[in-house]
Amino acid sequence: MSSVTENLKHVADSLPAGVTLVAVSKTKPVEMIEEAYRAGQRVFGENKVQEMVEKHERLPKDIEWHMIGHLQTNKVKYMASFVSLVHGVESLHLLETINKEALKAGRVIPCLLQFHIALEDTKFGLTLDEAREILDSEAYRQMRNVRVAGVMGMATNTDDEARIRREFRHLKEIFDTLKRDYFPSSPDFKEVSMGMSGDYLIAVQEGSTMVRVGSSIFGARQYNV
Ligand SMILES: *Cc1c(COP(=O)(O)O)cnc(C)c1O
Repeated sequence: MSSVTENLKHVADSLPAGVTLVAVSKTKPVEMIEEAYRAGQRVFGENKVQEMVEKHERLPKDIEWHMIGHLQTNKVKYMASFVSLVHGVESLHLLETINKEALKAGRVIPCLLQFHIALEDTKFGLTLDEAREILDSEAYRQMRNVRVAGVMGMATNTDDEARIRREFRHLKEIFDTLKRDYFPSSPDFKEVSMGMSGDYLIAVQEGSTMVRVGSSIFGARQYNV
């Protein structure tokens, strides 16, 4: 077995049934994605629209593409026809744009609300109050082409396990609160997207339903600066 296949198996085997593995393939070549595909992986995450579009064009059409990155509204149109899940929604304006482009594409696009749970200011995301403002708005109520399917967040990048655990626990509490207040009878609101290579086992213990794992599967990334 080569390493992508082995790594993928290792990660997948460590997840309980019912937790979705999003293989984060950003910056990695299509050959590596093909290898993961041959090993059975069907869900891949990218953080740049252009890169995701190119990979979508070149790779098998039964792949589910998840947009996990910070998203500019003017890029939404390029992926509206095929994206399976948008993880990082953090404004009403972005949700409105996704709704508009999804309507044009004749689709309903599932989205996750991204929350700011980490210490770092650099990480994006909503507060619970901001999420309530979105969900209470008339604009949101009129939307027919997006479906809010859950929440997403990133923990602080630290070795302090207790801190990471607290942050994930906080996100799970946000999920439970929104579920209770806005989606009590909706089976569609179900995802807690949390956990990356360094912390996905903690995330799963704290109630993650979806982990986004890149470097543990495909190896460390190199960025051209
Ligand atoms: C890159 C990225 C990941 C994967 O990170 P790894 O540490 O390589 O597993 C997960 N989530 C988001 C939002 C990312 O941008």
